[in-house]
Amino acid sequence: VNTLNKQQIATLATSLQQQRQRLIAAIRAHLHQSDQPGERALLSSFDEHDGPSAALIGELGIAQLRHECEELQDIDAALQRIDAGNYGTCLQCGVPIPFERMSVQPVAKACLACQKKAEQSYGAWSHN
Ligand SMILES: [Zn+2]
Repeated sequence: VNTLNKQQIATLATSLQQQRQRLIAAIRAHLHQSDQPGERALLSSFDEHDGPSAALIGELGIAQLRHECEELQDIDAALQRIDAGNYGTCLQCGVPIPFERMSVQPVAKACLACQKKAEQSYGAWSHN
């Protein structure tokens, strides 16, 4: 299996950015409708940084936003791996992850074999 080439990484980075924009829009819309002062205050941090502090939202414990925040953190982690140059490589065993898998799941951080192993041990990723 080959590592991802520059063009493939650029394609995946674009779809990560698009997903990120969609999530931010959804989170922003939720905060707008909120009657909680703490949640509304978060809106200002959105405008300054073009993104929420996912950790901050986690601290507030906004249940409706938990899923969005987790996705956002996954996306940010993937974008950081692109910057770091280890994107598309399994974090568990270090083998390159095929482009076919990455295009279905651009935030993937483990190869199929390692993900299956994790599912068997924890059952936590079984909904992916
Ligand atoms: Zn692996």
